[in-house]
Amino acid sequence: MPPLLQTAPDERRSTVEFVTAPEPTGARVRLRPEIAALPPYRQGRPAPADGYKLSSNENPFAPLPSVARVVAEAANEINRYPDATALALRERLAERFGVTADEVLVGAGSVALLAQFILAAASPGDEVVYSWRSFEAYPGLVTVAGATSVTVPNRADHGHDLDAMAAAITDRTRVIIVCSPNNPTGVVVTAAEFEAFMARVPADRLVLLDEAYIEFVQGAGADLAVDGRTLIGRYPNLVVLRTFSKAYGLAGLRVGYAIGPVELLDAARATAIPLGVTAAAASAAIASLEPAAESELLERVAAIAERRDRVHAALAEQGWPVPRAHSNFVWLPAGEATIEVAERLFDAGLVTRPFAGDGIRISVGEEESVQILLTILSELVPGSQETGSR
Ligand SMILES: *Cc1c(COP(=O)(O)O)cnc(C)c1O
Repeated sequence: MPPLLQTAPDERRSTVEFVTAPEPTGARVRLRPEIAALPPYRQGRPAPADGYKLSSNENPFAPLPSVARVVAEAANEINRYPDATALALRERLAERFGVTADEVLVGAGSVALLAQFILAAASPGDEVVYSWRSFEAYPGLVTVAGATSVTVPNRADHGHDLDAMAAAITDRTRVIIVCSPNNPTGVVVTAAEFEAFMARVPADRLVLLDEAYIEFVQGAGADLAVDGRTLIGRYPNLVVLRTFSKAYGLAGLRVGYAIGPVELLDAARATAIPLGVTAAAASAAIASLEPAAESELLERVAAIAERRDRVHAALAEQGWPVPRAHSNFVWLPAGEATIEVAERLFDAGLVTRPFAGDGIRISVGEEESVQILLTILSELVPGSQETGSR
């Protein structure tokens, strides 16, 4: 890499004082090799002007005016640091879940909380077990902690293989992550599966139940799904993670929460970068829990879930082997045709999240995007002459 402001030798003696960087030695700054090897973060492509962004599982509805108002009001106090523990929000959540405020930890999105818990429990040489394919953030968070990922393949139905996950636990395992509904496949873990799993996990290993999409678990089969809320207080090693990013539409403000035993939350608090949750984010979350606001938000969630079920049914009808989704996205197992199908969708104005060779995660977005999606995909059904694969 050329040094900054490198100058030719004779220029150095000119009357202008140049700031010269040290001579290049060919040496590179010593970084942790596993960090240097991580792929650089690339956010999905922006949607074209008249297209739809269906790549980040965002809520397609605009913020509620009541929520936007408290965010605007918070702007008048941005010269001050926020309350370090977001006590007011923790108290609201504690009331709702029937726990004390000390059993609630708030973070800058539940991704930040995931990072904090992994850092609190796993060091170099330790293992973190999770299903794969699952949330893209898990591998990086484990690597950053210096720990080792142990991935267990999803079952053929795209759900977690909890038996195999329990069997993958070794002396070195410190954390097991269960994601329900699973991102990107949308499949839920059932309550029965989860309880049988917990019975096999040693009580001194941390289990993180990532429920980023729990509010979308409705419709057929929802009654069988695990619900962290019913498990609170039952296990000394279980932490439930939820977020305001998806159902509550606050992805841009960064606020999520964890519920679990106090000593586990204290450990995660110790690994946090302080003051990550802004006052605007905490106020917006509280405003979203106001009864009138929340019922409107949950109506939107129901509308998205209904839209998802329509998309799922139509794709199944077309012949796509789509798993039953309980999230605000559907999983299209396009296999070898993944990139080709994603490109066709992109050309039609739909930005999706393809995982090459595997499948495409398609967020349930604006109603107007649905017909475009179904029309394009009807032309690309596996086995049709278009893709030829599968
Ligand atoms: C979106 C998501 C989260 C949380 O995201 P934040 O915006 O950081 O709260 C956590 N887990 C999964 C699986 C997700 O998809």
